[in-house]
Amino acid sequence: MRNQASDRLRMDDRETCSIHDALGRPLKDLRISVTDRCNFRCLYCMPKQVFGKDFRFIPHQDMLSFEEITRLAGCFVELGITKIRLTGGEPLLRRHIERLITYLAALRTPDGKPLDLTLTTNGSVLAQKAQSLFDAGLKRITVSLDAIDNDSFMKMNDVGFHIDGILHAIEQAVQVGFSPVKVNAVIRKGFNEDQILPLVRHFRHTPVILRFIEYMDVGSNIDWNREQIVPASKIVETINRYFPIEPLEANYLGETAERWRFKDGGGELGVISSITQPFCTDCTRIRLSTEGRIYPCLFSSEGFDLRTLLRSGQSDQQVTEAIAAYWRNRSNRYSELRKETGQQLTEKKIEMHYIGG
Ligand code: SAM
Ligand code: SF4
Ligand code: SF4
Repeated sequence: MRNQASDRLRMDDRETCSIHDALGRPLKDLRISVTDRCNFRCLYCMPKQVFGKDFRFIPHQDMLSFEEITRLAGCFVELGITKIRLTGGEPLLRRHIERLITYLAALRTPDGKPLDLTLTTNGSVLAQKAQSLFDAGLKRITVSLDAIDNDSFMKMNDVGFHIDGILHAIEQAVQVGFSPVKVNAVIRKGFNEDQILPLVRHFRHTPVILRFIEYMDVGSNIDWNREQIVPASKIVETINRYFPIEPLEANYLGETAERWRFKDGGGELGVISSITQPFCTDCTRIRLSTEGRIYPCLFSSEGFDLRTLLRSGQSDQQVTEAIAAYWRNRSNRYSELRKETGQQLTEKKIEMHYIGG
């Protein structure tokens, strides 16, 4: 059962945006991958046997510079983008990321509002960087954490990173003033479904919003199969049995998480049911890769190269028009089609570490 945004919310959202895709969906969110590198080797994203020492990451000269990213972000804002999420790879590994945050935090929507700027991180270097990120203008943050038990966590990150470093980073983020701090946990049957309740216990009655994500068939390098999905409905049922919860309204059109709250006032949590209850109908997201290609869907195989446009002297207006034309043509709805046909549809999909979550 997915919460529906109110009709008024939908109407407002559709009216304030200037462009829509072929299925009538507005362009609202931009996800920017700032690096394809990562210091973790999560089994469901960058398995070691593929991403070993011989793997060729994007060379530095092929990455967009912070100035190029900011210029493109400005074009997207012209087209109606109000929210930007920085991701990767591990975004905090990109050197001087604070400088990019300063640039993006200074952007304004056509009606003069700051953007809703956020970042998703594995938390490994967040404790050291929380204050400088906040001072640069980042006010919201999401940390990925799939277990509370250290042995499980070390198996999931597969590089022996200890849980204490991440828990300390989350506390640090709260203390520095990030609000909200969210924690994302991907649940995979046979790996960490026993961590659902320990995660809930740990984050209930704290300012942190915990969100559970269904294991997805991203990229072409992971060993995904349907049997390993723990459906969002099952996660909700498991939690509700021990900690009664009730549904909350969606905050805005295109919100990925179905929101719930503890009946005893223990706070809010979310579930993201990309597989069992896809939300393509309200998908307002576009993704920009580290080397400047845009992708209309997390499961696309083809992107559109904006870096060449930027580096060949095109004006902002020409770049903006190219993005608009690309979005107007968009008709992707991979997860709905996967559900309707019961099959994975694309032969070669972009990788999660390349495009971000
Ligand atoms: N490295 C950062 C991190 O882990 O938060 C940002 C990039 S990571 C690709 C973004 C999100 O994608 C993380 O929350 C991660 O758990 C999620 N993710 C990666 N592979 C996934 C999969 N196969 N299914 C569901 N979520 C996945
Ligand atoms: Fe790295 Fe994030 Fe992928 Fe894990 S999910 S390997 S932390 S990019
Ligand atoms: Fe959006 Fe593609 Fe995910 Fe559907 S499958 S919600 S279109 S990113």
